[in-house]
Amino acid sequence: MEAPAVILHRYGEAPVLDTVRLDAPGPGEVLVEMVASGICHTDLSYVRDARTVPVLLGHEGAGVVRALGCGVRTVAEGDTVVINWQPKCGRCRNCQRGRQDLCENVAGTGAPRVFWRDAPLSVMLNAGTFCRFVVVPEGGAVPVSPKMPFAKAALLGCGVATGVGAALYTARVEPGDDVVVLGCGGVGLNVVQGARLAQARTVIAVDRDDTRRDLARRYGATHVFPAVTELVTEEVRSLTQGRGVDHVFEVVGLPDLMLQGIDHLARGGTLTLVGAAARDAALPLQPRRFMSQQQNLRGCIYGNIRPTRDLPLFAELYLRGELLLDELEGRHLRLEDVPRVFTGEFTDLGVRPIVRFE
Ligand SMILES: [Zn+2]
Ligand SMILES: [Zn+2]
Repeated sequence: MEAPAVILHRYGEAPVLDTVRLDAPGPGEVLVEMVASGICHTDLSYVRDARTVPVLLGHEGAGVVRALGCGVRTVAEGDTVVINWQPKCGRCRNCQRGRQDLCENVAGTGAPRVFWRDAPLSVMLNAGTFCRFVVVPEGGAVPVSPKMPFAKAALLGCGVATGVGAALYTARVEPGDDVVVLGCGGVGLNVVQGARLAQARTVIAVDRDDTRRDLARRYGATHVFPAVTELVTEEVRSLTQGRGVDHVFEVVGLPDLMLQGIDHLARGGTLTLVGAAARDAALPLQPRRFMSQQQNLRGCIYGNIRPTRDLPLFAELYLRGELLLDELEGRHLRLEDVPRVFTGEFTDLGVRPIVRFE
């Protein structure tokens, strides 16, 4: 079948709306008709650091299962699914020892299923959700409650998974912990609410944008600041009897901000890197103090979630009112509008712009 899709052809240029051809799902694979797809910061950064071009963009989406390859057991036609861009192999050493969050062979389809001008086309993060249809391994389409609105379901697939997961599973924030979150976009706000769900005592959120600071308060921040300044340092000291905080989350990807984050850590504290730094960025860490303060540095991909357990759980928590998502849903766009997001033509996109396919 043919379908419209947004393809990045060249580094440094906006992607374009094009047409791709899709093969039917192979064994253990499913065809999903996309209904909504969020535009994540990683989509935008692919313009400079995609591993290969051309590539079909998009990785945060939700839709309806339309066809099954043979042997598929965990989803059925008509299911509402969230696209999981880390389908686990189930066979590698880490999957076998119960650490599927560290899977060494995150699975794509068995063979290329998307073609552009008759050549196989790379798809971003095993997904490629800026396309009317996607073919993914069955683990890449995780059923959630059909009551879940599609735009909100889409957000679960990257921003919520990464942010809430960073707090709950990567850093394992505990009740009573003190937390700093640097950067409150679509992921950072979810780190804030993850810290709230974990019953952190103090959540200090930092973002330059007024609206996002207001949202951070709504999502669980106890204190907000526009930048990491002396004020933040004083606040951290006074709130923690001079100790510093148990957790800092860096959700922007800037080495300077990471170093400022380390300055706020208590003895035994952990800096969790959630934001994607440039591939050649370096962090000039002072190891002596870090060593004597017994601190930790953690990298975080996809919030170390277990997608088949956590994506349906997050949907349930939203439907019960315990996970907030409504404020994250930004402006709705058509697929053909996506290239104009990359050229900066929109000024009022909200936290997470959403592509609607209907
Ligand atoms: Zn993303
Ligand atoms: Zn694995």
